[in-house]
Amino acid sequence: MKHLFDSWSALKSTIRKKEVILFLDYDGTLTPIVSHPRLAVLSPKIRSVINKLNKQLPFGVTIVSGRSLSEIKRKVNLKELSYVGNHGYEMQTPYLKYIHPEALKFIASAKKIQNQLKQALKKYKGIFVEDKTMTLSVHYRNVALSEVASLKKAFLKAMQPYIKQRMVRLTHGKKVWEIRPPVSWGKGKSVQWLLTSLGVSDNKNALPIFIGDDKTDEDAFKVLKKKGIGIKICSEKDPSSAARYYLKDTREVLTFLNRLLKSL
Ligand SMILES: [Mg+2]
Repeated sequence: MKHLFDSWSALKSTIRKKEVILFLDYDGTLTPIVSHPRLAVLSPKIRSVINKLNKQLPFGVTIVSGRSLSEIKRKVNLKELSYVGNHGYEMQTPYLKYIHPEALKFIASAKKIQNQLKQALKKYKGIFVEDKTMTLSVHYRNVALSEVASLKKAFLKAMQPYIKQRMVRLTHGKKVWEIRPPVSWGKGKSVQWLLTSLGVSDNKNALPIFIGDDKTDEDAFKVLKKKGIGIKICSEKDPSSAARYYLKDTREVLTFLNRLLKSL
């Protein structure tokens, strides 16, 4: 893994020869990680460059987030963009709308689990169970560090019946547990699905680029390992990542997006 700007001149000539298809994660990539998800606000500068890239790139820009589709659309607030919400369980582009059938079936269970978790975890100060309709996020960033082990125990105990009956799939991100439908689906598979639906998954001229910061983005880095470029947001090299390059923070992402726009 190399810092992207150290390889910029080579990358720029590749970009000029190919058709870039740009996928961007939101939290931790376009906005810094903050204490509560509602505080993650897109800067006008980033919104503006994304809008310009969306107009210039033949397949536009796709935002790929763990947030619900309605929430991520509201946060980014650009009409002509493509959006992948809920880790790919719901997607919307200017040409299509998609909801994973298993995610639709999961909505009733998610509601039930949410109510149970609220009861089971209410003594933990700072816990936030986010209802994303077809998935749930249990954010514990604001829970005292000394409480986290006990919280994890209580969380897993509440989830036990659902895990046993294979009714859920649990994943772990930055200070968040995700409760998802019991199907193998996520950012990697949804990016692959979109590339196929665009008819470019075997097109040697297409260059998909995915920028993300968290564990759930690794699926997309893996999918693009051979046919595209993964860029991870991390303060230093991460040898465990499948991404080819890294950028240090949201500020460097803005610089990269501006460079990309100029090189088109
Ligand atoms: Mg992220």
